[in-house]
Amino acid sequence: MDCKSCKSTTCSAKNQQPDEKSEEFQARQRLTHRMCGIKHKILVLSGKGGVGKSTVAVNIAASLAGQGYSVGLLDVDVHGPSVPTMLGLTRAGVTQSAEGIEPVMAGPNFKVISVAFFLEHPEQAVIWRGPMKMAVIKQFLGDVNWGELDYLIIDSPPGTGDEPLSVCQLIENLDGCVMVTTPQEVASADVRRSITFCNQLAVPVLGIVENMSGFRCPKCGEVVNIFAEGGGRKMAEDMNVRFLGSVPIDPEIVKCGDSGKPYVYSFAESATAKTFEAIIAPVVETLNNQQK
Ligand code: ADP
Repeated sequence: MDCKSCKSTTCSAKNQQPDEKSEEFQARQRLTHRMCGIKHKILVLSGKGGVGKSTVAVNIAASLAGQGYSVGLLDVDVHGPSVPTMLGLTRAGVTQSAEGIEPVMAGPNFKVISVAFFLEHPEQAVIWRGPMKMAVIKQFLGDVNWGELDYLIIDSPPGTGDEPLSVCQLIENLDGCVMVTTPQEVASADVRRSITFCNQLAVPVLGIVENMSGFRCPKCGEVVNIFAEGGGRKMAEDMNVRFLGSVPIDPEIVKCGDSGKPYVYSFAESATAKTFEAIIAPVVETLNNQQK
């Protein structure tokens, strides 16, 4: 089905806007049409870098794919794309078909697009200003052959800059954001700013994940709390958002990230892998209930 045969009366892509050029209208229709094929779109955000946002994005996407959902993972971290490394796809390149840009397959039901796939070499620095980033993200959403997906997980750079703003503005029915923080960051203004950003754009905050919360001893498996416990939960309560759970520091997460195999696949039976599943489960439940 295309936009012309779609029966929706409320979709904003139905009609050309007075100040819109034909090619802009066509591009907007293409993007909306692609997004129509995806049931749920979730943006993963953080206030600061290095808190494990990409790690959480990769592992929740991998966990959903492992549960049988058809999943897409879009890495719009233009200046520091780390998703290909975490999925062992650093040598991958994209191809073009009649349907558009073909995503790279990280599994039979797991499609990936990263800005890194379009760079000539991994060290290439991307020097793009806001409008250029917006144009690239538009292409990733509108010109990639995502097909029918249950979930599109979008890993954005930290903070509230052009990339998350573009995603929020371009995807009309974005389901919401998952916020990743650490015990050290919980008290800072950055994560609160990210929540305010979502509120201002009327994008629901689906929940907060506290990453690097305590250290899981590789010898006995016990979690030792290095920083004060419960900060993430308390902040979530204060900000009136759901607390999704805590992921401990686990040396195996670093090894998996570097070796290109998602932790939730390599250590599927571990307590931390179950934590990743438990983090995304309430989000899945909420979105499924909304759909009914
Ligand atoms: P961000 O996307 O927020 O910049 P990354 O996901 O790239 O952060 O993670 C930064 C580093 O921290 C990576 O080396 C990653 O493997 C490591 N890391 C993330 N989460 C954990 C964790 N729970 N335990 C151990 N290392 C982690």
